[in-house]
Amino acid sequence: MSKKITLATLWLDGCSGCHMSFLDLDDLLIEVLGLVDLVYSPLMDIKEFPEMVDVTLVEGSVSTNEDIEKIQHIRQHTKFLIAFGDCAVTGNIPAMRNHYSVRQVLQHVYHDNATNDDVEPINGVPILLDTVRPIHAIVPVDLTLPGCPPQPNLIYFVLTELVAGRIPDLMGRARFG
Ligand code: SF4
Repeated sequence: MSKKITLATLWLDGCSGCHMSFLDLDDLLIEVLGLVDLVYSPLMDIKEFPEMVDVTLVEGSVSTNEDIEKIQHIRQHTKFLIAFGDCAVTGNIPAMRNHYSVRQVLQHVYHDNATNDDVEPINGVPILLDTVRPIHAIVPVDLTLPGCPPQPNLIYFVLTELVAGRIPDLMGRARFG
């Protein structure tokens, strides 16, 4: 019988659709949660990332100073890091803002399109980076799991392969979009 692994999931700049796809495992979720211990995730109420986690799925791109701190911390405390979904792998939708300056983006969102208060949030919000980046631009990634979002059967395949002690071979299985 395979040994259980610890699993974390992280949500950076993404729409949460990749996490929704994880939940779309539906009844397979029960099987998966019999194979892994979920130890940190936006799906649960644990504030501290554990000292070391076997596998972390990272959804979303790196878009703020806070995202950089998070992904660097998680990399240091994760044995096998997976770029989970197209935003994590390439920047995808969030990176569409890379065609504009941060000033242009803020101007458009908080002033040009304002219906009530055209005030930019300043206090207590992360600082936008000049460009949105995929996570491999900041830290080493062990596996890229493409898809927008990755299909549940692919998530199942990846996790069960890792539990079995194998590096998942996604050749011919995964696609972008
Ligand atoms: Fe959402 Fe697609 Fe990005 Fe996942 S890859 S966070 S589903 S936009």
